[in-house]
Amino acid sequence: MGGVRLTDGRQENPQIVRLARTFSFEAAHLLPRVPEGHKCARLHGHSFQVEIVCEGPVDPDTGWLIDFADIKAVTKPIIEMLDHRYLNEIEGLENPTSEVLCKWIWNRLKPALPTLRTIIIMETCTSRCEYTERGVE
Ligand SMILES: [Zn+2]
Repeated sequence: MGGVRLTDGRQENPQIVRLARTFSFEAAHLLPRVPEGHKCARLHGHSFQVEIVCEGPVDPDTGWLIDFADIKAVTKPIIEMLDHRYLNEIEGLENPTSEVLCKWIWNRLKPALPTLRTIIIMETCTSRCEYTERGVE
């Protein structure tokens, strides 16, 4: 491994890594578009887990892709917009499925976090939604 070192010192084949940082928030929601009688049509809450995944080359000088603290700095204000809220009342989250929530966070986070690669939302311990934007590479 290691790749070929170019004349300017960069690696021709840099080490590509994925970093993930996990956040959590508590919120209530209901899903207005589910079939009649579906349990998710009733008001209920979740302890949401959100995994923010960044991908890119390791900087040969710093030895890292991005400081975990930088991921936290840009993600935390967005998570605070959701914490202890009734999600359906938030603009853009009128139908707050995990899929919609992934995209909602993505749209706010991507401009501040260019290495963002994937967002994973877990509503429960057993159910997760993973979103990766296509066609951006
Ligand atoms: Zn739910």
